[in-house]
Amino acid sequence: LKKREALTTGVSSIDALTGGGLAVYDIHEFAGEFGSGKTQLCHQLAVTVQLPPSRGGLGGGVVYIDTEGTFSPERIESISARFGVEDPLANIYVFRPLSVDELEEFVVRELSRLVKGGSRLIIVDSVIALYRAQFRGREWLAMRQQRINYMLDWVKRLSRLYSLVAVITNQVVSVPSAWGVAVKLPAGGNIIAHASTHRFLLKKTGDAFLLEVLDSPRVARGASVEFRIEEDGLHD
Ligand code: ADP
Ligand code: MG
Repeated sequence: LKKREALTTGVSSIDALTGGGLAVYDIHEFAGEFGSGKTQLCHQLAVTVQLPPSRGGLGGGVVYIDTEGTFSPERIESISARFGVEDPLANIYVFRPLSVDELEEFVVRELSRLVKGGSRLIIVDSVIALYRAQFRGREWLAMRQQRINYMLDWVKRLSRLYSLVAVITNQVVSVPSAWGVAVKLPAGGNIIAHASTHRFLLKKTGDAFLLEVLDSPRVARGASVEFRIEEDGLHD
């Protein structure tokens, strides 16, 4: 049996934890507070996907859906220099939706055409921001969940159809635990939980960052690794 293709994160401990990197066909969710490294990880993946398979990449481009306006060409250039990827921005298609409608329209009408052109990675950073802003309050919750589900369903379908890696980022919410101490869990409830094949939690602790497995068919829940973020990207 041929081993399923996987994408290196450029951090060997995270690759080891995930059994060789991020797998094609799967949706990988990274949730965390502001500043926990979600966007930096997305930038690194937008570079490593362009590496040849012999170096852990998929030799392809990326469609980067930037809902929070935090995509940075400068960060891409710094990280690319480390990995020796030339002209990285030529293979990154950035789309910045300003509303849920724009996001949906892009995913339904444009995304398949774009990925047919050689992309191997879809990034949605973040998956929840626009929905939270547009559908506020209890009376809109059901509609919000339904619309998130609709969008993620497309991402999942295209990932299967075109052998893509999918990456989504998510915010966290505080939930009271049995011990009376609030714990941070990914936002979006069952819908995002169900859509994600692998769920990870990112945390910043002092100068270090932590990646913890929340749920995965292949990795033990609760397993975690530390990494650092430098000018040239994420490191062991
Ligand atoms: P978020 O989870 O909110 O998307 P980011 O991915 O933007 O968070 O991570 C922000 C963190 O990444 C910053 O707190 C900083 O520690 C680190 N970082 C960002 N850019 C650089 C850089 N150029 N050099 C070193 N560290 C950086
Ligand atoms: Mg971010």
